[in-house]
Amino acid sequence: MQKPAVILLSGGLDSATAAAIAREQGFALFALSVDYGQRHRFELEAADRVARALGVRRHVTLRADLSPIGSSALTGPIEVPKDRDPAEIQHDVPVTYVPARNTLLLSLAVGYAEVIGAADIFIGVNAVDYSGYPDCRPEFLAAFEQTANLGTKAGVEGRLKFTIHAPLIELTKAQIIRWGTQLGVDYGLTHSCYDPDANGTPCGRCDACLLRRKGFAEAGMEDPRRGMRDEG
Ligand SMILES: [Zn+2]
Repeated sequence: MQKPAVILLSGGLDSATAAAIAREQGFALFALSVDYGQRHRFELEAADRVARALGVRRHVTLRADLSPIGSSALTGPIEVPKDRDPAEIQHDVPVTYVPARNTLLLSLAVGYAEVIGAADIFIGVNAVDYSGYPDCRPEFLAAFEQTANLGTKAGVEGRLKFTIHAPLIELTKAQIIRWGTQLGVDYGLTHSCYDPDANGTPCGRCDACLLRRKGFAEAGMEDPRRGMRDEG
């Protein structure tokens, strides 16, 4: 029997790859997406498409609307930065930082995992392209793993020893794309843009679009996502 794993599925390129890695490792996938009031809600539709393509056992979407507390360009009326230099993207915490997002997402994932008896949780965080996000660092994930084992009934009773898997944490976007392609991920189903138009077409200019474009270029591949193909 396959061991269950909870996969945090955002609908983006990284989490789709992390999910494919979990599947490759033999886990039965239980996907969790969170509607936190993100302006790029098209990613939730993308998460549905990716979950279906990966053949997940179950896909749950929880609502935890963060927009009333504000402060992030992803959940409030703050403008999403455009056309930034890649070096700048790497070296500060941008306004697209969502307060404590990964702590929140992982907490929900651990709760779900405890209920279904899964000891393994996969998250597609990456510390290379986004070194500015404090909750994408290995030391944060190690501390959270300890929290999960101390703060749950299954952990304290020793029934589950939670492991937080972050297989992409040290990889560049190009390495992630190459690995996912080998595993059969269809990146045409994924959505990365923070600020898409009303039809979900990527803007091509926000940090997420720029890092995605750079990743495909460095991998020597064409992005299959509509609106992200290099037309130049
Ligand atoms: Zn964009």
